[in-house]
Amino acid sequence: MFMKAAFLKEIGKDLVVENFTIAEPESEQVTIEQDITGICYRDILEKEGFFPRMKPPIIPGHEISGIIRKVGADVKEFRIGERVSSLIYEPCGFCEQCVSGHENLCPRKKTYGENINGSYTKYVNVSQRSLVRVPDGVSRELASIAACVTGMVYHALDTVGEGGYGTRVVITGAGGGVGSHAIQVAKAIGAQVIAATSSKWKEETLYKLGADFVINSSEGFDKEVKKIWPDGSQIVLENTGNATFASSLRSLAFGGRVVVIGNLEPTPVPLPLGMIILKGNRVEGTISSTRNDLRKALDLSKKGLVKEVKHDERNLEEVNQAFEDIKQRKNIGRIMLKL
Ligand SMILES: [Zn+2]
Ligand SMILES: [Zn+2]
Repeated sequence: MFMKAAFLKEIGKDLVVENFTIAEPESEQVTIEQDITGICYRDILEKEGFFPRMKPPIIPGHEISGIIRKVGADVKEFRIGERVSSLIYEPCGFCEQCVSGHENLCPRKKTYGENINGSYTKYVNVSQRSLVRVPDGVSRELASIAACVTGMVYHALDTVGEGGYGTRVVITGAGGGVGSHAIQVAKAIGAQVIAATSSKWKEETLYKLGADFVINSSEGFDKEVKKIWPDGSQIVLENTGNATFASSLRSLAFGGRVVVIGNLEPTPVPLPLGMIILKGNRVEGTISSTRNDLRKALDLSKKGLVKEVKHDERNLEEVNQAFEDIKQRKNIGRIMLKL
């Protein structure tokens, strides 16, 4: 099949849209026809060279969903015409992480848009080990972001953060593509939510998405958190990283955890060990989602508990401008590419 794709040809350079012919699916792959795909901050960091496994020339993007149009010879679980959503990676399927249901930690996984071609094109070949069926009633936007955004946040709050009904959760970077959905996932599991944003104009939208409180994170915000919850927060979902980490740590209750899901400026942060010891705090990293999380995320979407927050849809040719707009935080929610 002949079509257009956006390529990253060289680290640090703009993406280039060119004609592309997709290969036939390998024996355990399916070919998916997509309508749209999400632009993720990770795509921008990959372009800028912060992911050492990034191997240009490559088609970036990992927020994959759509209709199966072709299946490889050994694909048993999925059929042509089924609607599916994909993990952002291909797990090996055999290592200790994969066999224990923690495939997000598979050391041999390959990531779409990083070391295998990704989603910035109409058709994409994906391993059957990455796939989950999409239930009826889930929008194409929510199917696209189910693994990287809603499923990832579910994994961070539930599995890693051990959050649940009544848990006090602060979300940093709450107005972006991840944060705006994280508020809804946190509310869906019954948490209380403080949304922290540096963009005052996003405040009203964040309340509409379900935030119980919205605070300004352009300077330290831990005192604001303690005004609302004197004992501190049990979880901080750290979505921005460096810029907010010190305040996130100081916002914690005894026994609280900072669950780090994003870092927009990949440089080290100071870690006051004494504070962590004395308060029994934890700093935990979490990466992506498993198929189980993906299934749960799609279910939350089907039930209407998580709705898409889409900033707008751009053509493939506008991808470089979209990257720039995201870097300048001009968006509320996901900017998506029309394919
Ligand atoms: Zn993503
Ligand atoms: Zn594995």
